[in-house]
Amino acid sequence: MLLPGGLYEHGERVRRFAFEPPTGAIELATMTYQNEPMPRRITYVLCEALAHVGEQPPEFERVHTLSVGDRQFLVRRLAIHLGQDGGWHTVTCGHCQAEFDLFIEPSALPVKEAGDGYPFAELTIDVRRFRLHVPTGADQELVASIADPDEALRALVQSCLVEPAELAAAELSAADWQRIEGAMEEVSPEVVTQVESRCPECNGANSVEVDPYACLHGDGGGLLAEVHTLAMSYHWSEGQILELPRPRRQRYLALVDRSRGMTN
Ligand SMILES: [Zn+2]
Repeated sequence: MLLPGGLYEHGERVRRFAFEPPTGAIELATMTYQNEPMPRRITYVLCEALAHVGEQPPEFERVHTLSVGDRQFLVRRLAIHLGQDGGWHTVTCGHCQAEFDLFIEPSALPVKEAGDGYPFAELTIDVRRFRLHVPTGADQELVASIADPDEALRALVQSCLVEPAELAAAELSAADWQRIEGAMEEVSPEVVTQVESRCPECNGANSVEVDPYACLHGDGGGLLAEVHTLAMSYHWSEGQILELPRPRRQRYLALVDRSRGMTN
């Protein structure tokens, strides 16, 4: 499979990646590292889940410096790989407050590929030239703790700046900072994070958020219950059970269910 952006290594754009088999161990990884800042947590999870990225081992630096769009794409593809595609969302209509259910299938959502010039964005503001790389996980981590959105945007731009080497906050207006952000967004790969839907009651248009990192919000209860069932039945260790690819684990669980039905 190909990343919508990709890495530049030795002057070449590399986009291929593959995941490891979908074991319980990888599922468990999506629920750990809860105390880490989100960008770092995403990197740790992807490092465990990827077999390779750009034909190279998924080392921390390589994964941490993937563009934000690539990382969102990867986490969404990981959820699909782990059998978590498609889910119901309860939406409260912003017009008439009616609640309705909406089925969203992440694998069917469009992906925007990186634009010309990737991974760099260039623009000129008042004859001054700016060159930036598109934001990566590492840039996101640097600004993760800044609460004020304007300050966070300035810090993000400064972190991505290639030319000029330095830029003070007072040198540009708020609108200029936003223009720079817009230029970076134009070049960045993107996954869809909002789906438009009409309310069945009043036909009003609603925009529904689809979190690309949804699979990182599980509590592991379902997985641990499955490990418990198999450990009780077969006396395998936790590690052995977690090494089973998900489809095989499901087959054994079905067999346990069947033999319970026979004994009852
Ligand atoms: Zn409505």
